[in-house]
Amino acid sequence: MSWKVSHSDQTQNEVQLTWNVHVVEYVNNIYRRTTVHVNSSKGTVADSLPKDILILGPHFVPPSYLHVEKWQKCPAIEPMTGYLKPLIVVHPFYYPGLTKCPQCDSINVKWDSWTTKGHREVHGIRQEECTLGMQLRCKDCEMHFGKGKGGDPTKGKYCFATTNALFWERREAWEMPCGIPYFLKRCALTRELFDMIIELRPSSTSAGLAENIKWICISVDNTFWSAGKASIADSKKKQTKVWKGGMMMDGKGAEYWSKEEQAVKLEAAFEKWSRKGGVWSVAAAQVYADQMNHV
Ligand SMILES: [Zn+2]
Repeated sequence: MSWKVSHSDQTQNEVQLTWNVHVVEYVNNIYRRTTVHVNSSKGTVADSLPKDILILGPHFVPPSYLHVEKWQKCPAIEPMTGYLKPLIVVHPFYYPGLTKCPQCDSINVKWDSWTTKGHREVHGIRQEECTLGMQLRCKDCEMHFGKGKGGDPTKGKYCFATTNALFWERREAWEMPCGIPYFLKRCALTRELFDMIIELRPSSTSAGLAENIKWICISVDNTFWSAGKASIADSKKKQTKVWKGGMMMDGKGAEYWSKEEQAVKLEAAFEKWSRKGGVWSVAAAQVYADQMNHV
C-alpha cells in the first residue's frame, strides 16, 4: 500500500496501518450505503442505513485490553496493540458541510478518494492520535489550475485533502466542526490540546508553555502507558493487574526516563513476570525483543 512509502516521517507501524485499513473499510461501507451513486438518475434519494449497522466514528478508539479480557478466558497478551493510536476520520459521511471548495467556495466539487499519503500524526494531551482525510477536487479551480484542462498548475491547486492545513486556512478555529484536529503545516493538534494552548498562552511564555505541554504529554511514552492496559493471567486463570494506571512513581505521576533507564525497567518487568511462568504469550516475547531494539 502506498501509505507505507509516501510518509516516511509518520508511523509505519504495521499494526497501526492495519487498524487504519479496517476503519477505512468500515467508513467506505457506510458511506456507500448512504450516498447516491453519481450515475444514478436525477432525483434518486439516498438509502438510509439499516438499524443493525452501528454508526461509529469519526473518532475511532482501538479496542482496549478490557475487550480482550472479556472476549477470552485466558487473554493472549500482545503488548503491541497497546501502541495503537485512535484514528480521527475527516470524511464527508460525518461532515457533509465540508463539501465545498476551500479556495473558491464553489460546490462544483467531487470527493475523489482517501488521501494517498496516509494518516497524519496528531499531538494530544493524554495520548498521541492519528487522522486520515479525503481528497476533494474542485472542478472550477481545475479549469484554472489543472494541467489537463489547460490551466496553469504553478498558479494554484484544485485538489485539497481534509487533513491538510490548506483546506482549513480560510476558516476560523471556531468555524471548524467539533472533533476535527487543528491542522498546521508541519503538525496537527487535537482540539483539546489546541484549546489548552489558547487558555495558557496569555499567562505563559512560549518556553513555559512548551515545558507544560512536555509534562502533560509524558503519556506519549507509550511503552509504559500500554503496560497500564495489561493484566496477567496465571495458570489458574486468576487475573492480576500488572501496572495499574501505568508506571506511577510514588503517586506523583509518570516520570520521563532516559533510554538506559527505560531499558533496565522494561527488562526487569519482563524478567519478573516471565519467572512467574507462562504469563506472556510467545508473541509478547517477540514484541519484547523488538521493543528492546527500539529503546
Ligand atoms: Zn475551487
